[in-house]
Amino acid sequence: MSQQLQSLRGMVDLLPGKTRLWRAVESVARAHFQRSGLDEIRTPLLEPTELFNRGIGEATDVVGKEMYTFADRGDRSCSLRPEGTASVVRSAIEHGLLSQGAQKLWYAGPMFRYERPQAGRQRQFHQIGVECLGVSSARSDVEVIVLAWDLLRDLGVSGLELQINSLGTLEDRQRYRQQLVTWLEDRVDQLDTDSQQRLSTNPLRILDSKNPSTQILLADAPTLVEALSQESAKRFETVQVLLNQLAIPFQFNSRLVRGLDYYGHTAFEIVSDQLGAQATVCGGGRYDGLVQQLGGASTPAVGWALGMERLILVLEAEAAANPDGAAARLTATRVPDLYLVNRGDQAEALALRLARQLRAAGVSVELDGSSAAFAKQFKRANRSGAAWAAVIGEEEAQARQVRIKPLLKAGEEQRFELNDPAAVVAVLQTTAQNYLCPEDQR
Ligand code: ATP
Ligand code: MG
Repeated sequence: MSQQLQSLRGMVDLLPGKTRLWRAVESVARAHFQRSGLDEIRTPLLEPTELFNRGIGEATDVVGKEMYTFADRGDRSCSLRPEGTASVVRSAIEHGLLSQGAQKLWYAGPMFRYERPQAGRQRQFHQIGVECLGVSSARSDVEVIVLAWDLLRDLGVSGLELQINSLGTLEDRQRYRQQLVTWLEDRVDQLDTDSQQRLSTNPLRILDSKNPSTQILLADAPTLVEALSQESAKRFETVQVLLNQLAIPFQFNSRLVRGLDYYGHTAFEIVSDQLGAQATVCGGGRYDGLVQQLGGASTPAVGWALGMERLILVLEAEAAANPDGAAARLTATRVPDLYLVNRGDQAEALALRLARQLRAAGVSVELDGSSAAFAKQFKRANRSGAAWAAVIGEEEAQARQVRIKPLLKAGEEQRFELNDPAAVVAVLQTTAQNYLCPEDQR
């Protein structure tokens, strides 16, 4: 036998037992976006490498160490997208969307980063994201944060914390960068090697270091918020007032940074207490300089991206801890409305046709395909959780009829003519709660 093939490290199959929860999350997200007036955008997975060099920055880990980059057959350098923002902005510029007024967009799909795989960290992972282009007010920052917060709350996630910071303007950050570098240079021997390197390339990113001793050292470092101009400080104050007015709890985190010149003012993360080291479920902020950086007209913008794998981990933990909660409802297994028991050549052909007719009428039908003894098929019908069983055997096939039996409640068996599927649908509607899958109910 030839050797079995496996997926690449960090590339994960989503098996049938998992996809239901994924679909449920995606459909709740879609409903939120629709109510908030956002439109979907879909961009290619593969982009010119230059887009990410310019749009994320060569000094970042993502571009410097984590990208899947290769030359295509025409010798162009291509990269699998490591995130969505740069592509969305490229697309908006390329197609002139920005001259058509503010663009409120969402996207969802796989992203690729060559990282060390662990719980909540994969090489192919998935994000749902929001980008609002052409909006500048503090209120728009809050609107975008609220969208993420309410989505997570509706999904039934608890134990979340919203952390916010302000990165101010470019001038604020230049002033601060100088203070920080001076302060760190006096303590360079206490820094981890990664941070020592960043001191010259991207010093603000040091604030984001996960190294424990660097984190302790940074507790006494000067903070960005102290370096904000009066105007920037006032803007940040407005964001906080608005969050308070909406009763959205938040923590100020002076070390939350995005570390690039085109990010400024509001930065935020939503972290979960259930995820250990990979705690950030959602991260975002304002990036007023990016559109220009990518060749468009100066356009303010704000957005976020949410990591699906981490969200799913949180939801699974939540569902296990609280079996009656919203998260548990999302993970509930699929139950057909009707289980169709059938056996014998003629009966099986008629059952296939009836299944098709009932499905077209919106009934979810599990058609037993085994041709096994009736007792065996009935056992499976009972296990399926379906409210009804339908039976077509040789005798029913001869009479062109189907028998319908309630499985969950006591009740009489009824016979229907096979040429009248509408009558079957009508009787099934007496247990209408099973009719629609959850995504359709929202
Ligand atoms: P981290 O510090 O955890 O590496 P990040 O700052 O690189 O996160 P962003 O680029 O802000 O992450 O991406 C937004 C979200 O996407 C993260 O908060 C996280 O939920 C998710 N995410 C990022 N990288 C991965 C990955 N390799 N695997 C799974 N999810 C990821
Ligand atoms: Mg990362």
